[in-house]
Amino acid sequence: MKRVGFRWLERGSCRHPEFGMIQGGSLCPVDFPALVGVIAHPERGLFLFDTGYDPAFIEATGPFPERIYRWTTPASIGAGEEWRAWLAAHDIAEDEIAGLIVSHFHGDHVAGARHLAGLPMYCARVGLTALRSGSRLARVRKGLLSALVPQTMEGQACFFEDAPEVPLPSAFAPFTRGRDILGDGSLLMVELPGHCAGHWGLAFVTGEGQAVLLAGDAVYTSRAITENTPPPRYVTGMLGDTATYRQTLAQLVLARAGNAELAILPSHCPIAAAAFRGGDDA
Ligand SMILES: [Zn+2]
Repeated sequence: MKRVGFRWLERGSCRHPEFGMIQGGSLCPVDFPALVGVIAHPERGLFLFDTGYDPAFIEATGPFPERIYRWTTPASIGAGEEWRAWLAAHDIAEDEIAGLIVSHFHGDHVAGARHLAGLPMYCARVGLTALRSGSRLARVRKGLLSALVPQTMEGQACFFEDAPEVPLPSAFAPFTRGRDILGDGSLLMVELPGHCAGHWGLAFVTGEGQAVLLAGDAVYTSRAITENTPPPRYVTGMLGDTATYRQTLAQLVLARAGNAELAILPSHCPIAAAAFRGGDDA
């Protein structure tokens, strides 16, 4: 695979009782960061994997029924996490960003999409369709806030489903096939179904030769993989499909067991993220 640079950076967080994220978790509220992948392609520029939280999330969850989303997962977005401040804090040049890759359309993954309007948006067709379907209340119940993704971005959508399917290196087994979104073998999307409609992870190899699988919300924490413990059924059933979610978790457990060198990074796990912050705030 063509190698890429990679940093995995926090942008906002939410507070949630641990038991909603992992079966048997405590009642205590825990802060879960929202992580953004900053991928440096050697020729094409920077690609963001998700956007984390953004003040747009607060705007979008002002009215009812969208406010229910903010009540159930109270978000924290510090002044340093507003778009330009966050870019500056991490030495990210805005004009070097070449595209947005969307793991799935939950609000905490696309809240900052408006800042990237006009750039290619790599996403799942079924995910984008779900974002625009059903009543406002039905979407909120699924964690979807349609206003976060400007309509104009739909014209810039490059769907995973349409990208060529290619084999994955053995480091990603039991995942064997990916969708080559840039056409050069650098960034391969891997469907990780069950969390919600159109949920995908991203496989790549860093400049140091480290194989990485960004797992989105297929698991919330690394502990869920090492202990093979899913979230409770009421969470996975409300957002997606519990049986499919658990099949995907089983695949991730196998990947972890069979590939000691593979980094599997959930989008809300600060422990797994610590090794990939880069030099600026590690
Ligand atoms: Zn999600």
